[in-house]
Amino acid sequence: MRPATHLRQDLLAWYDRHARDLPWRRHPSPYHVLLSELMCQQTRVDTVLPYFAKFTERWPRLEDLAAATEQDVVDAWAGLGYYRRARFLHRAAKAAVARGGLPANVPALRELPGIGPYTAGAIGSIAFGIPTPLVDGNVERVLSRLDDRDADPRSGPGKKALWTRAEQLVSPERPGDSNQALMELGALVCTPKRPSCERCPWTADCAGKHRAESLPRKAPKKPPTRIREVAALVRDGDRFLLARRKPGGLLGGLWEPPRASPEEGESLELAAVRAIREGVGLDARVVGALGAITHVFSHRHLTLELFEVLAEPGEPVAGTYAEARYAEPAEVALSRLGEKAVSAAKQAQPSVLLAADPSRAEYTPDVETR
Ligand code: SF4
Repeated sequence: MRPATHLRQDLLAWYDRHARDLPWRRHPSPYHVLLSELMCQQTRVDTVLPYFAKFTERWPRLEDLAAATEQDVVDAWAGLGYYRRARFLHRAAKAAVARGGLPANVPALRELPGIGPYTAGAIGSIAFGIPTPLVDGNVERVLSRLDDRDADPRSGPGKKALWTRAEQLVSPERPGDSNQALMELGALVCTPKRPSCERCPWTADCAGKHRAESLPRKAPKKPPTRIREVAALVRDGDRFLLARRKPGGLLGGLWEPPRASPEEGESLELAAVRAIREGVGLDARVVGALGAITHVFSHRHLTLELFEVLAEPGEPVAGTYAEARYAEPAEVALSRLGEKAVSAAKQAQPSVLLAADPSRAEYTPDVETR
């Protein structure tokens, strides 16, 4: 294999011809790089583009974003998923502004909340021209294949070796471009399935292309914990009774139909009634089962049983939730789980526990569910 200098040259020449024209590349300010990097983690670029435009129009400067409320930022993020990123973005913006802006220094960037080695490397190299490496999923794949590495790129010596290799490949003259070129190569050419080796600037050097699809090798993940919960779907025409979770935790600040975990010995139906009583302070009764949906969090596999529920007339109050009201789903920042539950409820067949059309039914207390 040729030395790193030659690999860098060929990669940059390829990037100059094939780089996608993306808005954050036109004006790579530290703020734009922070925003785009957090948005692009685990999300396709096509999906990110309208969100990037929306954020930069509403909050043109880092200071504007820092002055927003966390809820406003989370609401604007609605639909992009992985909401922890929105909260980290807001916290990082506040902390950076309190220190006079995003620092032109990788260790200082790492001290900001939510900025890990990858994001610090991106801001450092792309916005400030610091010759520092970065490794994301694309870079892991390209470099594992280039060097035909068997080691797990996410832990121990495999991870360390990959960062060292990435460092060798950073151009001292164009660090931001060489890092972006490496990621772009992974996104466009060295794809997880069927990489286009014939179009790759490193095809003559690549030691792992004969078994590219089996690289990188990652240690098997622990099986997720399986949990079961219930969600109570209360309708009022096109509106649902929705509740906003208290801040903190995986889905903090996001909206959903009230849900609860069944307690030991408690039926699913009773748990659905409790979700309304404790969650939003209304009495309720179950009128039908709507089936179940599944949702995978990073380490948990959730089966969510959906129930059609009638609630007593009146305004919901904030019980175990921060806030609750009847709203159309598009009016609030629903979590992805909440979106799935509402959409499944809309498509579900009529309730199986109630013969009459539940939308015409009126609430009457149901002693059996108390
Ligand atoms: S030659 Fe193929 S496997 Fe090797 S880096 Fe290029 S695209 Fe990836």
